[in-house]
Amino acid sequence: MKIRWLCRTLLMLISVGVLGSFSDSVAQGSEKITTSLKCATRYQEPENLYDFKKRVKEYQDNGSWDKTNACVVQEAFKALKKYESMPGKKAIVSDIDDTALNNRPIIFKQDFGYVRDIYRDWEILGQSIAIEPVRALCNYAFTHGFAVFFITGRREDQRTTTENNLRRAGYLGWTHVYFKPMDFEGSSAAEFKRKWRQEIVDQGYTIVVNIGDQKSDLEGEPQALSNFKLSNPAYLIP
Ligand SMILES: [Mg+2]
Repeated sequence: MKIRWLCRTLLMLISVGVLGSFSDSVAQGSEKITTSLKCATRYQEPENLYDFKKRVKEYQDNGSWDKTNACVVQEAFKALKKYESMPGKKAIVSDIDDTALNNRPIIFKQDFGYVRDIYRDWEILGQSIAIEPVRALCNYAFTHGFAVFFITGRREDQRTTTENNLRRAGYLGWTHVYFKPMDFEGSSAAEFKRKWRQEIVDQGYTIVVNIGDQKSDLEGEPQALSNFKLSNPAYLIP
């Protein structure tokens, strides 16, 4: 009985304390918020993650993401057509994830979180649809005298599923898909992507267009004659 009484008293004291401090907050509410804002301004609190994710979703849902990409690809088309009559071996290079293939369903399903195994399962599933303007660009290049190369951050052991996905998504053909080497341990995708471009150039090709959703798709030497960066506010690959 004594123990039960002690517990009840203790609970009562805790609730009084909690309620007490809550009423203090209410009483001084606006003053406290002003103080918080002052501190947040002083230390430049970044945008709230919840708000930012909401804005990215809106950007997707109101079609702005697709419109931006369509606009970028329109410029890439102009460049491609400019070089169409150029003599010699001409090539276009495209990244795969969120350039040739659309991963947005898994990005939103995971609420922007990245768990390697979950993404790998998604990639193995091979159900990604094409990013339409990029598909049109690659297919135009393929049927108008350009070699099409894909350079991807996926590993070599995903070759079969990735190539099957590209076919299923409507990519008519390509000369080669370059993957991240199985033993690659570098800190930037730009390191191996640049090396694969060098291999393409060493085969006698002029890369007229390089397109990707990350800066690391485009950085380093050798460079294409023109580079095109698609929109991707959802993640960054260094
Ligand atoms: Mg990508």
